[in-house]
Amino acid sequence: MTEVDVADAITRHIDGREFAMLIGGKFIGSEDRPVREVHDPSTGAQITTIPQASAADVDAAVAAAEEAQPAWEALGVAGRSRCFERFGELVRENREQLAMLDAIDCGNPVTAMRTDIDICQAYLEGWPAFARSMTGDVYPASPGNLHYSAHRPYGVVGRITAFNHPAMFAITRPLPSLITGNTLVMKPSDETSLSTLALAELFAEAFPAGVVNIVTGGAEAGDTIVTHRAIKRLAFTGSVPTGLLIQRRAAESGMVKHLSLELGGKNAMVVFPDVDIDLAVEGAIYGMNLDVCQGQSCGSNSRIMVHGKIYDEFVQRMAARLAEYRVGIAYDEQTDVGPVVSAVHRDRVAGYIESGIAEGATLVHGGDRPAGLPAGGNFVNPALFADVTPQMRIGREEIFGPVMSVFRWDSYDDMLAEANGLELGLTASVWTNDLALAHRTADALDAGYVWVNDSTRHYFGTPFGGTKNSALGREESQDELLSYLEHKVVHTRLGDPRASMTRLLG
Ligand code: NAD
Repeated sequence: MTEVDVADAITRHIDGREFAMLIGGKFIGSEDRPVREVHDPSTGAQITTIPQASAADVDAAVAAAEEAQPAWEALGVAGRSRCFERFGELVRENREQLAMLDAIDCGNPVTAMRTDIDICQAYLEGWPAFARSMTGDVYPASPGNLHYSAHRPYGVVGRITAFNHPAMFAITRPLPSLITGNTLVMKPSDETSLSTLALAELFAEAFPAGVVNIVTGGAEAGDTIVTHRAIKRLAFTGSVPTGLLIQRRAAESGMVKHLSLELGGKNAMVVFPDVDIDLAVEGAIYGMNLDVCQGQSCGSNSRIMVHGKIYDEFVQRMAARLAEYRVGIAYDEQTDVGPVVSAVHRDRVAGYIESGIAEGATLVHGGDRPAGLPAGGNFVNPALFADVTPQMRIGREEIFGPVMSVFRWDSYDDMLAEANGLELGLTASVWTNDLALAHRTADALDAGYVWVNDSTRHYFGTPFGGTKNSALGREESQDELLSYLEHKVVHTRLGDPRASMTRLLG
């Protein structure tokens, strides 16, 4: 891609555009607020600024959400579904704009970001369908009584998201809270807010004022949401340290808050010696999400545990295959792997690569900066390490970037102990043609989402989440729908109450 094309992408999608928050149906720009500079990860150039919400802005967003909630709940699932339909149309119409904003702002390849937008349709259609098919329970009755369950929304939900799939998170993650009659205050990552602010315009068109409120900012704005006394239900996607802090801060608000946390992963891919090596290598690369978000994905299989019998062959073929991946500017159609999100994160990833070398792992491929790309871009050639052990930092800490560690194993029991030996348990995958072994291993892996001979794909309707420090709660399923509703039980006396009252009163 030429310099002219870079300028053209920025001119078409960024220049002259104001990115504003959405509070109570009104667009709130920077005006007299502090701003955050936005840098293009492909070039390092500052391209625009976004407002930083004050505590008063968050308060206003929560107040607007509170005011809008009763009428939103009263619309019922059918009424709310109509807003989802309109929103879905607007998302489809704006596919190119949203995908380009994520490429420019986050560094993910534009081709993958178009797919992200397409994937959202399953969620836009799926949540209303789930909500329409929801049922309650009727409990065994004592004679002359009826006992049944009812569900009520919490009211205002606070949602805070991570940086790596900005538009997809802003479109899909609020949906289960909204279809169940809650209203929302949402904060995207301060690193990648542009597509969410573009979506604010679409939310404003499709939903009544105050139902969806969007504020931007970092830890301070996030903490104001977490500790706000009018928000009883919080949903968070991000790192383990922030998730732990949120649990603490939510408790310090003096309220019992309902939380869902989708946190980090250091996910094991277990490869048995009977596999087709080329297929498993493809699975390893695909499962790293290199050509979606540079490996910056919670579910990436960054620990690849390969049986000793095929280890050398596997590593060699994987390195050869990785050499075919083109690292480049995120909004170049030819790019497979874009830059990582920021210069700070690039340095963090580079620090891990240095530590891997220093701790004795073998760097088989990548880890360097590819030539011929803009000097200010945060590019990292995907790094493949062999001879990794669980003691090494690259073998046990979530890097959240294009760094893959291949472990050698010979004893099944030792391999399992290593795979399960971390405090994280988001995803895992098992690669073998032996059916019994596949199921035995899937059962033994301590993770919330396990694939057999596949990886990384989510299927709407199946509960996604992790064990241990990786998650609290499950997403994308009936479990999540119910998690946005308070459970209430109603006991009704049938017939003439005096008879039983008399008996009760003796
Ligand atoms: P992060 O924890 O740094 O930030 C996440 C969000 O929290 C951002 O919006 C940030 O502004 C906000 N935040 C930061 N400090 C806060 C505070 N004190 N109070 C309230 N909010 C605060 O995470 P990140 O770097 O954006 O994302 C990467 C992490 O997210 C990785 O660990 C990754 O595994 C995880 N992740 C998990 C999933 C999942 O579904 N399990 C999906 C995507 C990302």
